[in-house]
Amino acid sequence: MKVIVLGAGVVGIATAYYLARDGHQVSLVDRNQGAALEASYANGGQLSYSYVAPLADPAVWPKLVPWLLSPSSPVRFRPQLDARQWRWCLQFLAACRSLRSAETTRHLLRLGHASRRLMHQLLADDPALDFAHANSGKLVVYRDAAALESARRQVDFQQRLVRDDDYRQEVLDSAACMAIEPALDRLRGEIVGGVHTASEDTADCYRFSVDLLDRIRAASPENRCFFATSINGLSVRQGEVVGVETSAGRLEADAYVLAAGCDSERLARRAGLSLPIYPLKGYSLTAPISDPKAAPTLSVTDFQRKIVYARLAGRLRVAGIADIGGYDCSIAPRRLATLLGEARGAFPGAANYEQAEAWAGLRPATPSGRPILGHSPYRKLWLNVGHGALGFTLSLASGRALADLIGGQSPFVALDGFTLPGGPGKAGASAC
Ligand SMILES: Cc1cc2nc3c(=O)[nH]c(=O)nc-3n(C[C@H](O)[C@H](O)[C@H](O)COP(=O)(O)OP(=O)(O)OC[C@H]3O[C@@H](n4cnc5c(N)ncnc54)[C@H](O)[C@@H]3O)c2cc1C
Repeated sequence: MKVIVLGAGVVGIATAYYLARDGHQVSLVDRNQGAALEASYANGGQLSYSYVAPLADPAVWPKLVPWLLSPSSPVRFRPQLDARQWRWCLQFLAACRSLRSAETTRHLLRLGHASRRLMHQLLADDPALDFAHANSGKLVVYRDAAALESARRQVDFQQRLVRDDDYRQEVLDSAACMAIEPALDRLRGEIVGGVHTASEDTADCYRFSVDLLDRIRAASPENRCFFATSINGLSVRQGEVVGVETSAGRLEADAYVLAAGCDSERLARRAGLSLPIYPLKGYSLTAPISDPKAAPTLSVTDFQRKIVYARLAGRLRVAGIADIGGYDCSIAPRRLATLLGEARGAFPGAANYEQAEAWAGLRPATPSGRPILGHSPYRKLWLNVGHGALGFTLSLASGRALADLIGGQSPFVALDGFTLPGGPGKAGASAC
């Protein structure tokens, strides 16, 4: 079958990879000069299979005022004259309920752990892949007792859901956190405890995407990449997508996969389909490690500050911040300074911060935190969109499941909780 994948971020690339492995003829279309140059470029590097609880949670309510008013808050709302933003925020607040959040966690854990199995299978099958993958383990640290207590309840909840021999989460007190991650010493006295999960991984999402792209190209000379090519719209006739209009002309195939990150919302809307995706802008900085003893070996998350730290092949990647304020991808000096200040405060001697590369990207987020996967209301159009803060983590399971569906098979992992209501031919459906 001839399949066109719209968007060559990590999600589109993973989908194209499995489609190519299944023997389909794949074309990737992307406006950039190469793969993974937008949200997938310099993200936090976390393969966060077990830390999937969504941002939409009842704990959001007391934080709303700081999000609105404090310039250094990890999450910030910047009002825009854009109905999409307000609609998304209302849907987000509606999703901040315990039952909804627990349901989302349950579905994301299933997808996350399916991704973990696929990642390890991929590494075993293809040892030449080289994208700074490490089984680092992850330690999420908490600065107040109530948050740690809530984390303990989450650990108990997840323990009942995950059936994976390698999966074990431990709640640690402050001294135990310092013992397993001595580089946290500077935060001694501030951290009350943490949750450690040895089975979590880290890797470089950009290098991962580029490696998979090489495999796609090597699989068949018929697989094609249309880079530096803008997608202008989908052509729909009688409930069926019949082509894609691009700056390189019209492209046609037997199936189309929408995987265009934040722009998926606009492309879908032009075709009459409403997808509740809005950008959550985040930042990262990547600095060469100057003192290996002062840099964390584990992947560390500072829960209250919503900042992640990962070692990626001799560099320290620091990522965080979620600004709800439109599609502008430029780097705001004050937000970057917040991130840099946190990194210098937590791991002062770890890296040459003055040489840090700064980056900002847009997480394609749904209000609930669940991606939208599977069929669309239009025949021949499939969706792999809205992965928010977990696109790297979930890319393999989402891509494998989409390739199964397009090949006429049942998806290898159940997709309930992620699909649009109705089926192909039910145009006008919407999801959140
Ligand atoms: C600061 C930050 C930290 C993060 N940390 C993590 C992490 O640690 N772990 C994790 O799992 N996830 C993380 N994420 C989230 C993750 O990076 C995203 O979920 C993921 O990259 C989304 O991938 P995507 O392929 O859907 O979108 P993108 O990577 O944005 O890909 C979409 C592609 O579509 C192309 N495109 C869009 N519109 C058009 C058009 N009209 N014409 C042509 N091409 C088009 C774009 O050029 C782009 O290449 C983080 C994100 C940010 C911003």
